[in-house]
Amino acid sequence: MATVAKAVPQPVVPRMAPREDLNPFRISQIQFDIAAEYLKLEPGLRQVLRTPKRVLEVSIPTKMDNGQLKVFTGFRVQHNIARGPAKGGIRYHPGVTLDEVKALASWMTWKTATVNIPYGGGKGGVICDPKRMSKGELERMTRRYTSEILPIIGPERDIPAPDVYTDAQTMAWIMDTYSMTVGYSSLGVVTGKPVSLGGSQGRNEATARGCLFATEEACKVKRIPLRGASVAIQGFGNAGSIAARLFAEKRAKIVAISDSRGGVYNPRGIDPLRAIRYKERSGTVVGMPGASRISNDDLLTLKCDILIPAALENVITLHNADQIKAKIVAEAANGTTTPHADEVLYRRGVFVLPDILANAGGVTVSYFEWAQDLQGYFWEENEVNTRLEKVMKRAFYDVYETMRKYHTHSRAAAYILAVGRVAEATLVRGLFP
Ligand code: NAD
Repeated sequence: MATVAKAVPQPVVPRMAPREDLNPFRISQIQFDIAAEYLKLEPGLRQVLRTPKRVLEVSIPTKMDNGQLKVFTGFRVQHNIARGPAKGGIRYHPGVTLDEVKALASWMTWKTATVNIPYGGGKGGVICDPKRMSKGELERMTRRYTSEILPIIGPERDIPAPDVYTDAQTMAWIMDTYSMTVGYSSLGVVTGKPVSLGGSQGRNEATARGCLFATEEACKVKRIPLRGASVAIQGFGNAGSIAARLFAEKRAKIVAISDSRGGVYNPRGIDPLRAIRYKERSGTVVGMPGASRISNDDLLTLKCDILIPAALENVITLHNADQIKAKIVAEAANGTTTPHADEVLYRRGVFVLPDILANAGGVTVSYFEWAQDLQGYFWEENEVNTRLEKVMKRAFYDVYETMRKYHTHSRAAAYILAVGRVAEATLVRGLFP
């Protein structure tokens, strides 16, 4: 059993540096260290839990449409598998680094433990610019990447899923490449697949829906009616655009949205369905009629009830934490808030739904998808959503109670819960050999 501290120690965020360290892996280790300190974990166990179990870097030679060969670099990191197979998405982005993938893999370990599903944490990434690649180039790169990481993935080992700039089509290529190599159709090797290929009903909306369920509970605790609440959303992809639609269905008012090109703002509300149609046509929400332009930076500090960062890491830092005006920050994206910014938001009474809770709906329905694939028995969307709601609500109150017990902020509480669970599994398994 992981020992639980009786006294309430102070968090161990390093003294404020003149410039914040924005390296995502070091940030993930600080977040871990805070929980390890509360839990008074042994130094050896801390080392095991803060280090990735397995790191693979691969070269991905790809034939481009102009006939030339280009070699991309990709990674797959398995951070921890104490509680089950590694699980985590694959990101295609020019800014991917090994440290980012290591951080994202560790966040997956803590996320699957926060919502208590039987997985560890993993993540993959390829350094590429998918917006400048044709579908054929993406398919060839994806298939070769799959073949390079194939020795360490599989339904019982490590199960990838979509992340930034990868989608159901990417997962279908991975599933096909894996299946052709092993010689049979393996549905359970990836999640986030098309429904026609063993995907789950509700998976596409799951990250945003989970975020909505967690936010509904936060609103109850903070006594903010969701109906009529103003919501600003940064990032308008899978997580952000679907969150806009689902929050609007609950009669919240979407006052600002954005993507990599900038944002738009209308205090009277933006219709998410119109925004989705506009983005499909123009490739961006910028320029959408009936809303004025706003920068990504200004969107974050807008006066609103709920702020949903749904793009990339490190958007709430020491630089802007004291200007955040939202009452609730629901982190649909991973790694949005730095440890120092967490302290500032906590002091200012902003209720943060940390990423490892707020966006855990995606991996939860991925787990449902995997369970359905392995059973060969598929559920209706209603059943998926009802089960998701149960998992998210339970996780929210587990975190909330831990927050009250330890008198700390919600991220530290979620980490205490998650690290405690993984530590317990590690200790009970014992050390091999
Ligand atoms: P996506 O590729 O579907 O969308 C990303 C969005 O972010 C796009 O609208 C893009 O324009 C925007 N964006 C990119 N750079 C930006 C910038 N600098 N400023 C503002 N916007 C920018 O990706 P997604 O799947 O929605 O993932 C978004 C976040 O959610 C990531 O942090 C991801 O790890 C996290 N997440 C996703 C899932 C999932 O199931 N898709 C699950 C859990 C967490």
